[in-house]
Amino acid sequence: MRWSRFYIPTLKEAPSDAEVVSHKLLTRAGMIRKLTSGVYTYMPLGLRSISKAASIVRQEMDKAGANEVSMPMVQPADLWQESGRWDFYGPELLRFKDRHQRDCCLGPTHEEVITDIVRGEVRSYRQLPMNLYQIQTKFRDEIRPRFGLMRGREFIMKDAYSFDRDQQGLDVSYQAMYDAYMSIFSRMALSFRPVEADSGSIGGSFSHEFMVLADTGEDTVVVCKECSYAANIERAEVFCTGDECDRLDIPFEETATPGKCTVEEVAAFLDVTPAAIIKTLIYVADGEPVVALVRGDRELNDIKLKNLLHADTLEMATPEQVQKWTNAPVGYAGPVGIQVSRIVADNELRLATDWITGANKADTHLKHVSLKRDVKLAGFADLRLITEGDACPKCGGAISLTKGIEVGHVFKLGTKYSEAMNCKYVDEQGREQTMLMGCYGIGVSRVVASCIEQNHDADGIKFPPPIAPFEALVLNLDIRTEDVCAKVDEIETLLAAQGMDVLVDDREERPGVKFKDADLIGIPMQIVVGGKGLARGVVEVKDRRTGEKAELPVQGFAEAFA
Ligand code: ATP
Ligand code: MG
Ligand code: MG
Ligand code: MG
Repeated sequence: MRWSRFYIPTLKEAPSDAEVVSHKLLTRAGMIRKLTSGVYTYMPLGLRSISKAASIVRQEMDKAGANEVSMPMVQPADLWQESGRWDFYGPELLRFKDRHQRDCCLGPTHEEVITDIVRGEVRSYRQLPMNLYQIQTKFRDEIRPRFGLMRGREFIMKDAYSFDRDQQGLDVSYQAMYDAYMSIFSRMALSFRPVEADSGSIGGSFSHEFMVLADTGEDTVVVCKECSYAANIERAEVFCTGDECDRLDIPFEETATPGKCTVEEVAAFLDVTPAAIIKTLIYVADGEPVVALVRGDRELNDIKLKNLLHADTLEMATPEQVQKWTNAPVGYAGPVGIQVSRIVADNELRLATDWITGANKADTHLKHVSLKRDVKLAGFADLRLITEGDACPKCGGAISLTKGIEVGHVFKLGTKYSEAMNCKYVDEQGREQTMLMGCYGIGVSRVVASCIEQNHDADGIKFPPPIAPFEALVLNLDIRTEDVCAKVDEIETLLAAQGMDVLVDDREERPGVKFKDADLIGIPMQIVVGGKGLARGVVEVKDRRTGEKAELPVQGFAEAFA
């Protein structure tokens, strides 16, 4: 590929709204261009990187026995009504009406669509297990799109869905995806860690997030220095603090009358701005009224709490509503309420939410939600949750906290969707059974941004070869000199014959410009061919990642790369 024919609009300045390095460099390297908030065009170079990441994902998914499909981005509301999510998914779901006034949405995820397909296709146990995946554009109307490709509103996700006959089958499918993710992120040369994630009231530790370790990560990861324990902070807190968790129930007398209170009144009471509150609820938990404050600037990890993100008035929740919101496990006494507490840890306000499903404390499902630091709550500052150096829940060793970027998530759904949407098969005995499902996501565009967060220096990107848009860049320093051009062609042909993706900088630019751009776009191998070098019988090879330079004799060049 010739640079003169390949559009790479590099920039000297980063856009003013770019806060993190990947956003700055992706823009400066001409890889992305912003259309509107959280929505980007992938320019030729950016698209190449994304395609490389996608093809690693595709290869490993295929190897794990999953089948690629491509589902529509536009989805009818009926399916979402059937699963119950139409009413409960917050404003992240972009809804619209078609010309016949039918409600539709843009897919933020595809559980409903895939379940609809499978229930229409699969009849017999012989057709299971099945795992279907796609690599496709998702839309989530994120409250705070930022950091370029890291948190876009439109982004590329690989989403896979497994269907099994029984729990053992689901365990096998889940493990296969977990293993595939290990291979995928290793092949991408990312420094990452799988961590236990909270799966809310679905139960068990059957959710793992794959975290790329980077200071700019929005998630906090708890790792034990002595054993293999690693979890996201929400889960670790549930695990570590359990019943000893310091809890403060907001005194009922201090709030306004339930059902009549305005958002402004609650905001004044909580000392936050009204805009920060998406929804506030007062519940009766164990006969005690408590207040839930749900803010919209942090995506709530738990799908159940997302359900609360609609109205802007205060209301009483009935046990039936709570049951619906929390999707509390059946078989218990049923939820009697949600208890919400405010806890301050390291200047960070957290909301601890219990859904109390019975008299027994063991039935309590705890959920912590991190809120914004700028929320001040006088009087609570000395309470703390887990911090650096605390004892690890597994072995008692010291834990440490690091920042991570969630690039992948594997999740056992169980019968949540198959039950609601009647996705059944007939077993060996001719009985109807509900399928067990798992879902597995990878943020393909986010992966490229995370890779840059981990691999850069002051001059630009330092791509590892697997996700680099090109593997080698040949810089032609004397485009008017015939033997230089001939040598460049020869080297290009030679490298291409090795299966490498080669870009040749044949632009009419000064060497200084070419060197700067080369370092900015971060192609791992740079080969500099110029008249002066050739006169001495050498070309220069530079490893962009280590900065190491070597002069290779033109004579032995072919052998060195053979
Ligand atoms: P986050 O906690 O960062 O909001 P999520 O838990 O909502 O992510 P999932 O529903 O688990 O995301 O989706 C699967 C994957 O899609 C995530 O692991 C992440 O890599 C990616 N992803 C999610 N939201 C975005 C986004 N707004 N921009 C880019 N990638 C995203
Ligand atoms: Mg999210
Ligand atoms: Mg998440
Ligand atoms: Mg997730």
